[in-house]
Amino acid sequence: MPTTTTMLSDKTRYYLELEEKHGAHNYHPLPVVLNRGQGVFVWDVDNKRYYDFLSGYSAVNQGHCHPAIIAALTQQAQVLTLTSRAFHSEGLSEYTQFITNYFGYDKVLPMNTGVEAVETAIKLCRRWGYDVKGIPANKAIILVCAHNFHGRTSTVISFSTDPSSYDRFGPFMPGFEVISYNDLPALASALQDPNVAGLLVEPIQGEAGVVIPDEGFLAAAKQYCEDARVLFMADEIQTGLCRTGRMLACDHENVRPDILIIGKALSGGTLPASAVLADDEIMLTIKPGEHGSTYGGNPLACKVSIAALTVLKEERMAENALAMGELFRQELQALQSPHITTIRGKGLLNAIVIQHANPEAAWALCLAMKEEGLLAKPTHGDKIRLSPPLVINREQVYESISIINRSLHILD
Ligand code: PLP
Repeated sequence: MPTTTTMLSDKTRYYLELEEKHGAHNYHPLPVVLNRGQGVFVWDVDNKRYYDFLSGYSAVNQGHCHPAIIAALTQQAQVLTLTSRAFHSEGLSEYTQFITNYFGYDKVLPMNTGVEAVETAIKLCRRWGYDVKGIPANKAIILVCAHNFHGRTSTVISFSTDPSSYDRFGPFMPGFEVISYNDLPALASALQDPNVAGLLVEPIQGEAGVVIPDEGFLAAAKQYCEDARVLFMADEIQTGLCRTGRMLACDHENVRPDILIIGKALSGGTLPASAVLADDEIMLTIKPGEHGSTYGGNPLACKVSIAALTVLKEERMAENALAMGELFRQELQALQSPHITTIRGKGLLNAIVIQHANPEAAWALCLAMKEEGLLAKPTHGDKIRLSPPLVINREQVYESISIINRSLHILD
């Protein structure tokens, strides 16, 4: 079984070596160099076409270079891109109305990357804890879940349970308590502490390998939080925006988070755009000058985000994700591969767990799939996330399954 080597063209090798020499080594990418994308496909520098089964970690839900999103981007880029928040912009004003109506919240606070939105939610939650709930100064606790992934800043890695995120990056930010995921008794017990201000939770743990909590967990957790006067903060950066077959993963259980955090596909993969949504009681605890970002809410991102959200609904991407996800998992199951121990997912957020004597088997399978024309990436060694753009159609699902099937034989 090949492990880490594949045949690479001279062109590919050239770009890999450039990056190896000049770029920081903080990622371990598959050896493929891309230069074009359209819909569910990307192409490499040798013009070979691949199904993109990572979708920029779910940032490209609408498909690569969606024409309506690119039109909004290019039109606005020629008019006004950045004002900073020192001044108002037409784009931001319109966007605040659009997105708050879209998700049903009083207010939005726009940021750029996902982790910045998480940081914003943490600050909002603490401030609400002090100003509204009456927690004594600097005593606020935010509950988080084991195996979480909320990004890479020093605060956010402070409550990671994954050594590759936190090891030798301390000292860490206090004020977080880790409870196990999908564990209502643990939540109930942690909520006894009157200084708890919020629970920060992923409705499905994407980076952990698409770990789906029991049905009813989110609804019960929300109720527990409400009873304890604690804010329920949903990190829907990966699970939101139709990825799991509903607009938000919380919608599967009719849960309305007190603080909603979104990012990634909010710009359809074109530029960093994230947002925190909440009602006035929470959002207005932060006053002018107390939080912000130079690029947050820039008119370019605002126009792009309106387009990105519009096409999700207009093209019924939640419905397609639900139907294609069902089909995909059913066809994957039908392969009856001895190498796949688990197939799980919701909508088009899926993962398989690979069982093999070789601990590098998931990586080897991803290399084999690359050779066959499908890109995916292992997470935590033995899991592979399979999350194509939400515009994938039936024929493309069938073709992807046959690519995966052919590739699996590398593990025989
Ligand atoms: N939260 C979740 C659930 C994520 O999956 C990610 C990224 O993968 C983040 C936060 C961080 O987002 P970003 O990489 O844009 O900072």
